[in-house]
Amino acid sequence: MKEIIVVGGGLAGLISSIELAQSGYLVTLFEKKKYPFHRVCGEYISNEVAPYFSANQLLPDLELPQIQQFELSSIRGKSLQMPLDLGGFGLSRFALDQHLVNKASALGVQVHEQTTILSCVFSGGKFLIETSIGRQFESDLVIGAYGKNSILDKKLSREFTSKRSPFLGVKYHVKTDAPKNTVSLHNFEGGYCGFSAIEDGKYNLCYLGSRSVLKKYGSIAEMEENVLCKNPQLRHLFKNSDFLFDKPEVINEFSFAPKKLIENHILMAGDAAGLITPLCGNGMAMAIHSGKILADLIKVYWAGDSLKRTELENAYLNEWNSLFKKRLWVGRQTQKLFGTKFSSELAVGLVQSVRPLAKRIMKNTHGEPFQ
Ligand SMILES: Cc1cc2nc3c(=O)[nH]c(=O)nc-3n(C[C@H](O)[C@H](O)[C@H](O)COP(=O)(O)OP(=O)(O)OC[C@H]3O[C@@H](n4cnc5c(N)ncnc54)[C@H](O)[C@@H]3O)c2cc1C
Repeated sequence: MKEIIVVGGGLAGLISSIELAQSGYLVTLFEKKKYPFHRVCGEYISNEVAPYFSANQLLPDLELPQIQQFELSSIRGKSLQMPLDLGGFGLSRFALDQHLVNKASALGVQVHEQTTILSCVFSGGKFLIETSIGRQFESDLVIGAYGKNSILDKKLSREFTSKRSPFLGVKYHVKTDAPKNTVSLHNFEGGYCGFSAIEDGKYNLCYLGSRSVLKKYGSIAEMEENVLCKNPQLRHLFKNSDFLFDKPEVINEFSFAPKKLIENHILMAGDAAGLITPLCGNGMAMAIHSGKILADLIKVYWAGDSLKRTELENAYLNEWNSLFKKRLWVGRQTQKLFGTKFSSELAVGLVQSVRPLAKRIMKNTHGEPFQ
């Protein structure tokens, strides 16, 4: 029997599990949290995934806002709008991940919730996996789909873990009066905030900020009042929305630095392979696509009895690089145009006066729709 372990039940982990289980592989998925749960994510999903999702019925039965407009504002609140060529839709991870894990379980994936993988060691052609529930597991193949930060990164001594990350991610769901067809990106000192509609008349307000700014103001509420609300567009949103969570969803310690795709023979997918800056709005599409191409290649290189590990690793490296490497680089360069007064004014001015440049950046940080 072809047994595969997937570490992490976000989009990359759930999609690869579904694809492999559908083809008869025995998949065990470990997720440290309990579904359904909220995650820090802007929840704007690029239409890159639309054909794949609809062909495979991967969307929950909900009315989803279709998003075709982009709004950008500078720290001072100067703003512009432009149409999105590809566009996307809004859907909470709370609803999407729950739907996908139900689908995975129905296909026979063994889902272990509230189970953290503490270590994963490759020796003699097999992986030995240590879990937080005291049990060990063995497997021929491991997919690392554990997202932007995990205990495993440190365990594997991944290069980017040697530097502390300056970033902070915060998310809310709110109810307010705003257009449903627009995704906005509002700058503030040290970061930027995304805003767009999701299901059930709700909106997602999610920002990437700086830990040093948070430290200066002492609390998230003080930072929002004194820094984010300096942008009049954000002030309007903060003052005219009903916040639906008791407290914000917060993450820190994540890196946009390049990562190694294969560590100790673990095949990384999604953010564990490389995190694109959130302003590009397609980290989820990349996680879904990488989970799918990895599963497709496993089916090719582990079709018969023998697993062709070296060929699989080389093929995955080639395909991943050709699909995602350039996008991550362009995203890193574009991020430099955000988060300071000067750069945010420049970004708005540039996008306003050189529309083809803005379109080119968007094109270069996105992929083609896939099936
Ligand atoms: C502020 C912010 C805003 C964003 N906004 C958007 C947006 O609007 N649109 C978009 O497309 N992308 C956005 N992204 C990016 C997007 O959220 C990610 O790219 C996407 O969630 C990656 O999916 P994934 O499956 O790789 O990881 P995740 O969805 O993070 O899943 C990883 C899972 O692994 C689990 N895990 C971790 N370690 C272990 C372990 N040791 N054992 C077991 N389980 C483990 C975690 O609990 C988690 O459930 C944003 C990112 C940030 C930071």
